Amino acid sequence: MKIEEVQSTTKKQRIATHTHIKGLGLDANGYAVSLAAGFVGQAQAREAAGLVVDMIRQKKMAGRALLLAGPPGTGKTALALGVCQELGSKVPFCPMVGSEVYSSEVKKTEVLMENFRRAIGLRIKENKEVYEGEVTELSPEETESVTGGYGKSISHVIIGLKTVKGTKQLKLDPTIYDALIKEKVAVGDVIFIEANSGAVKRVGRSDAFATEFDLEAEEYVPLPKGEVHKKKEIVQDVTLHDLDAANARPQGGQDILSLMGQMMKPRKTEITDKLRQEINKVVNRYIDEGIAELVPGVLFIDEVHMLDIECFSYLNRALESSLSPIVIFATNRGVCDVRGTTMKSPHGIPVDLLDRLLIIRTDTYGPAEMIQILAIRAQVEELVVEEEGLAYLGEIGQRASLRHAVQLLSPASVIGRMNGRENICKADIEEANSLYLDAKSSAKLLQEQQDRYIS
Ligand code: ATP
Repeated sequence: MKIEEVQSTTKKQRIATHTHIKGLGLDANGYAVSLAAGFVGQAQAREAAGLVVDMIRQKKMAGRALLLAGPPGTGKTALALGVCQELGSKVPFCPMVGSEVYSSEVKKTEVLMENFRRAIGLRIKENKEVYEGEVTELSPEETESVTGGYGKSISHVIIGLKTVKGTKQLKLDPTIYDALIKEKVAVGDVIFIEANSGAVKRVGRSDAFATEFDLEAEEYVPLPKGEVHKKKEIVQDVTLHDLDAANARPQGGQDILSLMGQMMKPRKTEITDKLRQEINKVVNRYIDEGIAELVPGVLFIDEVHMLDIECFSYLNRALESSLSPIVIFATNRGVCDVRGTTMKSPHGIPVDLLDRLLIIRTDTYGPAEMIQILAIRAQVEELVVEEEGLAYLGEIGQRASLRHAVQLLSPASVIGRMNGRENICKADIEEANSLYLDAKSSAKLLQEQQDRYIS
């Protein structure tokens, strides 16, 4: 039996409830539209976040970060995701909770660093090219100069590459020769050679390439031998963490990152500082060569007061780095201790970091707004809630929390179906609500019955 690593899905789950958020929903002048891009209300915060998006685009956020301050369930995560989406569709969003840094196995700063790198994207552009050529014979000297020694045992294979213009600039890989042998390429045959950003990737007869490169299409005119036949740009979006992981793992995981997964040999099994530095070096070279482009994403750190002084000093430094994502903190705390010290500070954040922050406040929602948000969530989850039910759910949201009300949708739909109903009605929600406590009621109950529990 093979034991496999269990991949964590927490990051995905954390944004699963926010799939309806498609941006900040602002008009051309930066004003919040009452319901747009999945966003309801919270106008001031959305407009303020919109300005931050402008600042990011103008590169005026370097070394600074954003703090969203407001009670739980006021859309802080939704706002951070909205900012990210305004920056572009392939911009990475990495959500984490402050308490995540306390792991018994990994250093706190290591957890932060990994999340930083999950939030930095890299867009790699590769030019896939196909060359066409006829196999001819090479002289022994030419074979030697083209193959740099590989030629001896497989000289008849090398011949084919002679016909391709510019071959000498292409980096030849021994596996290509194997492929040619397998294809039984002989003198006089017409073959195709595929190259990616200058390196030969694949060779063969026309059939395999015809579909992929649309060689039969109208615009296909056989070019003189050795010309670039067709170019196709492929774009891959990865994060720096993907690259770290692909290069740290001894096997597997490389196929998606065909180019980048093999940046370094020998492979290591752990992501170390040294490996990251080497990755950075290669990435910087790719950026200089125009093959790759940096896409800074958003790192969202919820419950920032859970971080301690060591983490804060690390963050202060990391924000200065040229490879830094946009960092958005969120908190629902007022003045409290900075963890690891006896210093009190607003939101539990040391003053030197506070100095770098732009702070946006989020407010609690009124009943109408809550109902609108609940209606959007129901629609996304493909559930039909009757009007009376939705109003009741809104009341629950007001009493308990928006999150609790949103979470009741699924059990209520199961109850509805059990009772033979397609739509969710008030009774289903009442039943779901009686079965599951919200956090406030649960805490109240525990307090009232304190003597019955172990303290
Ligand atoms: P916070 O981070 O402030 O606790 P949140 O963004 O995590 O808030 P939840 O409390 O999880 O929000 O809110 C429940 C649901 O309501 C989520 O699906 C969230 O996307 C959605 N939501 C919150 N605010 C808005 C809003 N203004 N417009 C639309 N949907 C919202």
